[in-house]
Amino acid sequence: MNEFERMAELLFSHIDKEPEYYENLYPERNLKEGARVVRIAPSPTGYLHLGTLFMSLVNRTCADSTGGIFYTRIEDTDKKREIEGGIDDIINGLVRFGINIDEGFVTPTEQKGDYGPYKQSQRAEIYQCFAKKLVKEGFAYPCFCTAEELSAVREKQEANKIRTGYHGEFAVHRNITVDEAKALIDEGKPYVVRLKSPGNEENRIFVDDGIKGKIELPENDEDFVLLKSDGIPTYHFAHAVDDHLMRTTHVIRGDEWLSSVPKHIQLFKLLGFKPPKFCHVAPIMKLDNGAKRKISKRKDPEAAVHYFAEEGFDAKSVIEYLMTVASSEFEDWRRANPDAPRENFKFNLKKMSVSGALFDGDKLIDVSKNVVSSMDSETVVAKLLDWAKEFDGEFYNILSKDKEYTKAVFAIDRDCAKPRKDIAKWNEAKKYCSYFFSELYTPCYEFPEHINADDVKAFLKKYIGVYCETDTKEEWFGRIKSLCSDLGFAAETKEYKANKEAYKGSAGDLSTILRIAVTGRRNTPDLCSIMQVLGKDECIKRMNDAISNI
Ligand code: GLU
Repeated sequence: MNEFERMAELLFSHIDKEPEYYENLYPERNLKEGARVVRIAPSPTGYLHLGTLFMSLVNRTCADSTGGIFYTRIEDTDKKREIEGGIDDIINGLVRFGINIDEGFVTPTEQKGDYGPYKQSQRAEIYQCFAKKLVKEGFAYPCFCTAEELSAVREKQEANKIRTGYHGEFAVHRNITVDEAKALIDEGKPYVVRLKSPGNEENRIFVDDGIKGKIELPENDEDFVLLKSDGIPTYHFAHAVDDHLMRTTHVIRGDEWLSSVPKHIQLFKLLGFKPPKFCHVAPIMKLDNGAKRKISKRKDPEAAVHYFAEEGFDAKSVIEYLMTVASSEFEDWRRANPDAPRENFKFNLKKMSVSGALFDGDKLIDVSKNVVSSMDSETVVAKLLDWAKEFDGEFYNILSKDKEYTKAVFAIDRDCAKPRKDIAKWNEAKKYCSYFFSELYTPCYEFPEHINADDVKAFLKKYIGVYCETDTKEEWFGRIKSLCSDLGFAAETKEYKANKEAYKGSAGDLSTILRIAVTGRRNTPDLCSIMQVLGKDECIKRMNDAISNI
């Protein structure tokens, strides 16, 4: 045994498998040409946030466009920062937003696929096997520096304006001998395993990023940590081992990792792995006082995906909107293919924003109105009830008292060729439908100013006399028109406009009066349908109430 082999045995005597074992266990995937294997690799250190949902959607879409595979991997190597329920929230959230998971964690507790385990804390032996290989080949070594020693070095570097880090002359354990290491281990000294970087900071490396294009970066010369003192890998090392063994073809991740690419490329090379295609996605941005900045978990409620659920955005609305953020070509495609599943969209990573697309709340609302307007009343009511059950119990009770009635309310101007686009999210529904429910309705008698109170009363009285609840829309309006001449109103708006002095107002004004008397509003969906749903007794009661309150 040479010195390196002896060092590998000293550090990893418990590892008896060779890398080939894993290479054979996780063979190349048998997929059609061009199929991409992509993944989302969340750390359960927080709840599902917009960035993770967005990145998952980008990866999912990339797999869909190429007939590939999208898998999840839980990167739980930072036990100190892990939060309880983090995995559940992330995986359940992806499922709820319709992000199909082919492999990995398909539910918070269930792993599927032949390339697992898909949780890093369950892969310690695999990482150690590959760390052993690097030590054996002289590309890694144990480092016994304490946290205090490392920060003293850092302070010295900062004081002397030298690049900080464990490199060059500062890499003090680089050439540690087996005997020295053994003595320290026998003393019970903790150690990490570091890469012995063959790189030189003066050299440049060239990367063709799938999104950012050609980039140039300095070669890595830092002896960064591969395994921490508890034998758990750092992100860098786990990334190389996992993405290789899980046969990831494209690593699509946040661009905060871009500067680590030299480390990763070096690792892949030293491990004898073919690097994946790197694709670095810029974060979603927000306009803050005219300046573009990253969406922040601390400052922006919409950074947490839970916010969208609470507001009552349908999952599909959020996803459709995020597709427009992911690709500037999506909106045109959607216009041309209004009913096609989004999986049919041909996604091109190169068309993604390099500097970070803006989150536009108004656009989300617009997209969402379209999505809701395409739902039939049955779907709307089912989704609204689900939302209300979770977030507004009082409203839920009101809506579920008479479901047929509730369905009739939401069928108005909906189950038709040109549905109204008036609801974007379920928390708007209460206001939208308040006049249908006595518990929510407060009358408001603000009639048009140019019509005096006596004329309002006179009209309502006459209307009560002729009102017929089975009228079609045309008959309904015809009846209002038929009252016009007696009351001194013009039956046609044109007539009124041409000769305002001759009339008190138009049939349009009379229908506004009726609308206000019955609903308390000037703007509503089709009033004839509203009155049918409310029923004759309720409508007459409301008109009489109006008459006595004017
Ligand atoms: N766990 C890493 C993160 O959450 C994953 C990055 C990657 O996709 O490789 O940032």
